[in-house]
Amino acid sequence: MEKIKVDNLSFSYPKSDKLALESVSLSIKESEFVVLCGKSGCGKSTLLRHLKKSMNPYGNKLGSVCFDGEEIEDMNDRDAASKIGYVQQNPDNQLVTDKVWHELAFGLESLGYSNSVIKRRVAEMASYFGIQTWFRKSVSELSGGQKQRLALVCAIASRLPILLLDEPTSGLGYAQMLVIADILNKLKEEGRTIITVTHDSEFIKHCCDDVIRMEEA
Ligand code: ADP
Ligand code: MG
Repeated sequence: MEKIKVDNLSFSYPKSDKLALESVSLSIKESEFVVLCGKSGCGKSTLLRHLKKSMNPYGNKLGSVCFDGEEIEDMNDRDAASKIGYVQQNPDNQLVTDKVWHELAFGLESLGYSNSVIKRRVAEMASYFGIQTWFRKSVSELSGGQKQRLALVCAIASRLPILLLDEPTSGLGYAQMLVIADILNKLKEEGRTIITVTHDSEFIKHCCDDVIRMEEA
């Protein structure tokens, strides 16, 4: 079944006379793992932001972006938050609490889960993804790669059916990249739909069904 459908989407940022996206159309089915790649500045992040209501960029838009047949702009906030997860390229913009364990719990709290579910799920996630050793640390003590992993695990912990990831391996070494690829491949096998933006060709080799190359508008 089709999950996301982008139809003839063109977009320009305010005060820019250049189109950041020009007539983009794509369709993504449930359980697909799609990689969007292309040169820096070709519009990958702009396109990804159109797929998540709270990240939609402000500007002039033509065309449509639908989730389960409904315009993303018209989704209610609860559905938008509980169905689609987004991991930004720079995890510093995304991590909002002081401690690692609290960051993991925060997303679940905001989705309204009970304390007992949160405790169990946080412990499960920490051990499954091998982050127990830094569980009690402050977020500010983590390396860039650890922050990247934490942001990803937070998005995964919420068990959202769709994950949107913007350059999830940027700044990571080869071994860390493999860990992320492995996590994403497991999620795909569990039936999650994953759309990731990347320009990391090694990462592309290790994961994904379908590579969509973007060219500059
Ligand atoms: P990519 O993620 O592929 O590197 P972006 O989606 O970030 O590309 O950018 C696409 C184009 O839109 C670029 O020309 C960029 O300079 C421009 N752009 C991105 N963000 C903004 C913004 N907030 N305001 C104005 N122009 C922007
Ligand atoms: Mg980008």
